[in-house]
Amino acid sequence: MKVRVDPDLCIGDGSCAETCPEVFEMRDDGLAHVKKDADFAVCGERLTEAVENCPVGAIIFDE
Ligand code: SF4
Repeated sequence: MKVRVDPDLCIGDGSCAETCPEVFEMRDDGLAHVKKDADFAVCGERLTEAVENCPVGAIIFDE
């Protein structure tokens, strides 16, 4: 399982990077990005939490 951030939806509030900093990072464009070579398993349930708490539904699961 992987996740990605839709840059057209992200409003850059940073909550995903706070919830799961091992996977998400805020960059100079003001948007969240999935870290290169991120280990998605490291966040465990926090990854699901980050997806569910994104206020605009910008984090998308790719199976
Ligand atoms: S929680 Fe959603 S809107 Fe907020 S920074 Fe992350 S992807 Fe963007």
